[in-house]
Amino acid sequence: MENQYSRSVQRAGNKPAQELIREVFQVIPRKWRGIGEIPRSGLGLAEAYSDYDAERRFGLADQAVPEPEECISGLVLQGLRKPHECPAFGSVCTPEHPLGATMVSSEGACAAYYLYRRRPVGVAAGNGS
Ligand code: SF4
Repeated sequence: MENQYSRSVQRAGNKPAQELIREVFQVIPRKWRGIGEIPRSGLGLAEAYSDYDAERRFGLADQAVPEPEECISGLVLQGLRKPHECPAFGSVCTPEHPLGATMVSSEGACAAYYLYRRRPVGVAAGNGS
């Protein structure tokens, strides 16, 4: 691979920006919807900037947002189930009324399956597609 922007992009990256990021943020465990907490998977504000940390200021750090019982987005995110295997897919869960994270944004797996589906909602796939 060849860097086509070598006049402005160096292999080492933008050092001042990297230093700022290291100063302002620290790696922390982060809870991911449908999966749970993953060690060292997120960024939080460093201690020196804790006055600006909304999670601390508003007591949001331990706030839990449970997924609806029928939502299998955690399994979808881990590649263990396909979106159309969810009983709520396309019925009670649509991009207009999403139940889980993977139906919320257009690049979410459930939203993509819904928008670009090859078969009507409710018809089971035989080949895993
Ligand atoms: S279709 Fe909706 S309810 Fe089912 S896994 Fe996807 S986001 Fe969750």
